[in-house]
Amino acid sequence: MTEQEKKELQERVKSVIERVNNAAVQAGRDPSEITLVAATKMNDAERVQAAIEAGIRVCGENRVQELQEKYEQNAYDGADLQFIGTLQTNKVKYLIGKVSLIQSVGSVHLGEAIAKEAEKRGVCQDILLEVNIGREAAKSGLPPEELHDAIVKLSAKKSLHIRGLMAIPPVADEKTKNSNYFTEMRQVFIDILTKKYDNVDMDYLSMGMTNDFETAIACGANMVRVGTAIFGKRPYQIVSP
Ligand SMILES: *Cc1c(COP(=O)(O)O)cnc(C)c1O
Repeated sequence: MTEQEKKELQERVKSVIERVNNAAVQAGRDPSEITLVAATKMNDAERVQAAIEAGIRVCGENRVQELQEKYEQNAYDGADLQFIGTLQTNKVKYLIGKVSLIQSVGSVHLGEAIAKEAEKRGVCQDILLEVNIGREAAKSGLPPEELHDAIVKLSAKKSLHIRGLMAIPPVADEKTKNSNYFTEMRQVFIDILTKKYDNVDMDYLSMGMTNDFETAIACGANMVRVGTAIFGKRPYQIVSP
């Protein structure tokens, strides 16, 4: 990284933190209640370290192999590491002991695989349940109507701790910025909260990315996952003219 690139990254981190804080205040909430997760996919260890130096406290990684490689390079030192991507059951073993939270548990099957591996290691793994709030056929996650059964099954596992919900709504519509989906997620979240399941804590509502994180905070998110606004466009997002 050149000094110039580092400076630009620092400025983007500062700007995103400010925007998160402002969105919290506007929503009548304390900025300290909101967790900013930097989505680090496709950014190398040097960039991730530079972001942490600039003030990032939580990193969210998408791919197991990429996480392992960067972990070996101490990319996440100084920050909390979480997993936010699609996860195959046979890769779960590489995450336990490395990540504090697996945000993307979109099926009972995956939850059970995590529980099994965590039990083997004698640890308790924090997870979020991923909700397919847009009910998109091509997307992973539990449809809201299947959440109750999933919570009953997974909360019975001593080696799992459900800490909240995560959602990736359809690509943000420029006008509504997904506020309809975010509001629905907030209602689902409150509904589960009031049911007071044993061994379940609704601490985190993780929703909102670069294009819509301020709207998500306005609608009740207390965890946002931001990549592009922090790191700039990823290689595949740059469309040549
Ligand atoms: C990449 C990614 C993000 C961040 O997306 P941006 O639009 O770049 O902010 C958030 N959540 C998940 C699960 C992601 O894969």
